[in-house]
Amino acid sequence: MGKIHFESWRQTSFFHNPLKDGQLDTQEIEVRIDPLTRHQSTFNPGLEGKMSILFPETDYAYLEQRAEATRGQCFLCDDRWRTATPTYSTDILPEGRLQRGEVALFPNLFPVSAFHAVVKVGDRHFRLPNEISADLLEDAFTVSIESFRQYHRRHPSIRYFTINVNFLLPAGASIIHPHLQLLGSPFPGTYQELLLEKGLAYYKRHGSCYWTDLVEEEKALGERLIAQIGGSTWFAAYAPGGANEINAVWTERSHFLEWGPEEIRQMADGLSRALCAYHDMKFSSFNFSCFSGPVDSSLPEFRCLLRLVNRQNAMPHHRTDDYYFQKLLKNEIIIQRPEKLAAFLKGYF
Ligand SMILES: [Zn+2]
Repeated sequence: MGKIHFESWRQTSFFHNPLKDGQLDTQEIEVRIDPLTRHQSTFNPGLEGKMSILFPETDYAYLEQRAEATRGQCFLCDDRWRTATPTYSTDILPEGRLQRGEVALFPNLFPVSAFHAVVKVGDRHFRLPNEISADLLEDAFTVSIESFRQYHRRHPSIRYFTINVNFLLPAGASIIHPHLQLLGSPFPGTYQELLLEKGLAYYKRHGSCYWTDLVEEEKALGERLIAQIGGSTWFAAYAPGGANEINAVWTERSHFLEWGPEEIRQMADGLSRALCAYHDMKFSSFNFSCFSGPVDSSLPEFRCLLRLVNRQNAMPHHRTDDYYFQKLLKNEIIIQRPEKLAAFLKGYF
């Protein structure tokens, strides 16, 4: 038996169903347990094919209307960001900000971390997920990694970095204009700390890295594997922490300062492909976070990891997809089997 166990529990729910003339209905529920964190993800096959109950379709006309209504005040549009955004001191970034093509990086005006930068992703105020190209993302991740390098050089105590996105309002974005949020702190965040602690415990128990073992296991099974792009392996999460969760793991890289142009391109390429698939699934809103180990040591128990999830679709009066079940009980609902998601995604890689 392998070191990684894809555990699941099953339970049965009984009730008299008015949709079936009041007859006794039996519904089988599968609860999947994440092999590392033991996060629970629940699947009821009765919901299969009824996606619109939980995720009503995107209202694209409404999105266009919101884009038009907000373009005039957007601080990332035109040249407004050049005067409206803060700058870093010149000992960190000689010009205060970083620019590359249509991408610009500058400090967040209201940081939630010692290092908290915003990256403007392109000049266009509004893009659909399939309009975010790999080239644009490559520029955005290039300035991101460069900012980590420069900030850590000047402030060595800032060791834990993440690259994050809220895309569109249901995902938590305050503006429609595509942008990244970069965080750097002396301490890992809650989830990052959990990954580090669980990864270390696994390493001590098995003498190997959970993430490289997971990739080997997913490759051997194949049912959730999507693609290999250079040193990154892309697969659907066994026990997703959000709708349609896709993961990528860099098996030879434990932190961001080990990244060069190749890793940056792999992330940009894989993400743009996944976002095209999301768009064709008629999902419009998403979050992603890319995690790194501490940038001043190559931890044998950790590897760089990307998590990408859909959020509620953009529509007027949208209902959040993050309610008591996720926010407080810390569970998630599987809206389609990860194995089915992976089969669909393969067509885009
Ligand atoms: Zn804008």
